Amino acid sequence: MIAGTGNAPDVVIAGGGIGGLVTALCLHRAGVNVRVFEAAREFRPLGVGINLQPHAVRVLHALGLEEDLRRTAIRTSELVYVNKFGQRIWQEPRGLDAGYAVPQYSIHRGELQMILHRAATRSLPPDAIRAGHELVGFGQDASGVHAVFVERGGGGDVTIAAGALVAADGIHSVVRRTFHPGEGEPRFSGRILWRATTRTAPVLSGRSMVWAGHDRQKFVAYPISESARVEGRALMNWIAELRVPEEQPPPRSDWNRRVDKAVFREAFASWDFGWLSVPGLIDGAEAVYEFPMVDRDPLPRWTHGRITLLGDAAHPMYPVGSNGASQAILDAEALADACSRQSRVEEVFAAYEAQRRPATSAVVLANRAGGPDRVLQLAEERAPNGFERIEDVIPRLELEAIANRYKQTAGFDRETVNRRVRGDVPP
Ligand SMILES: Cc1cc2nc3c(=O)[nH]c(=O)nc-3n(C[C@H](O)[C@H](O)[C@H](O)COP(=O)(O)OP(=O)(O)OC[C@H]3O[C@@H](n4cnc5c(N)ncnc54)[C@H](O)[C@@H]3O)c2cc1C
Repeated sequence: MIAGTGNAPDVVIAGGGIGGLVTALCLHRAGVNVRVFEAAREFRPLGVGINLQPHAVRVLHALGLEEDLRRTAIRTSELVYVNKFGQRIWQEPRGLDAGYAVPQYSIHRGELQMILHRAATRSLPPDAIRAGHELVGFGQDASGVHAVFVERGGGGDVTIAAGALVAADGIHSVVRRTFHPGEGEPRFSGRILWRATTRTAPVLSGRSMVWAGHDRQKFVAYPISESARVEGRALMNWIAELRVPEEQPPPRSDWNRRVDKAVFREAFASWDFGWLSVPGLIDGAEAVYEFPMVDRDPLPRWTHGRITLLGDAAHPMYPVGSNGASQAILDAEALADACSRQSRVEEVFAAYEAQRRPATSAVVLANRAGGPDRVLQLAEERAPNGFERIEDVIPRLELEAIANRYKQTAGFDRETVNRRVRGDVPP
């Protein structure tokens, strides 16, 4: 267990996003005193859709969130890859339909954050979760850490003493920047993403995720609202992705940057597959958010004494393979497990980092190489004008191998997840 300093709480978490809040819940359950400081003035349901893979859902269910997730999120049933003409390249069942003991969920990021915030407010002591506190500085000595927060709204500085600091402050992490000052801005992939949600009729099974296109132009769509589904409708989350000319400077990666859809709509004007109308989805969206596809190189270390990184602060990755939030949740679980097994902060963080840094570095690199989306590019290269039978273009075994390899790299192959659910695998 991590020791505190005097009456100070034991662990301070900077950042109340998905990673920070799940870490607070997991550490609290492990008996650690924890406080979360979030820079935003209030917890608001921001963002659009994300996916929770079964390995992360297992952790959330263990925290007692099964009912909330079941009511809110879509239990994803299948993943369908199609080319730019809407022809099927690969299709596989997902979650419960694929024999996992727990579902895969597609959910609005903001709704997930609010579910986590409510759970944390319910179970943690009053005042343990504070909005409007931005981490601006920190330090440590042999007995503890101190973290300096600026109170938004002119409250001045607050200095908090604790046994340890976990930086879950996202892709622009202040802590990461301090320990790795030469790193600079996130690494741009040469692709821009436009994200939005649109209310429509259900597509395919009503629980299907669709990935269309190829490396230079892609469109992803999946439903994220269970309440819309039970009404016979769909709230479709979608992401349009285009490669941009090398010389075009990327906009700063800000999750809330709104743009006009005219910027990218034309490129998708002919992508009406009958069963899925890409232009229709684009036209039906109210607000579109632009985000450059960025990540960062895996780090040689996350931990410096009593301070460590977690979630996007530690391993921001391309949104390929739908794993960003899930990997942050696995970090939280690993940190709590390490707390239960070790007593000194340094030992806890060493065990956590030994488990999670190599695993997440592999996912960052796999996503850079295209992850499971590689099947799209293979089909484009081998059959740019489409195909009659996918078997003539890519053998089934090759498609299957790509899908399976990625699941193993990201840690959500069915056998591993189901063994963990049954408790057969030590943490
Ligand atoms: C507003 C927002 C919208 C997003 N929308 C999407 C989306 O639509 N789809 C998607 O796939 N991913 C989205 N993401 C990213 C996604 O949530 C993460 O990739 C993933 O969930 C990992 O979570 P994280 O907690 O590590 O990082 P984040 O979710 O980025 O959370 C980091 C948190 O730290 C806070 N923070 C930052 N700096 C400081 C500081 N100095 N002091 C205190 N707090 C700080 C941020 O306000 C944020 O709440 C979004 C992130 C944010 C912040």
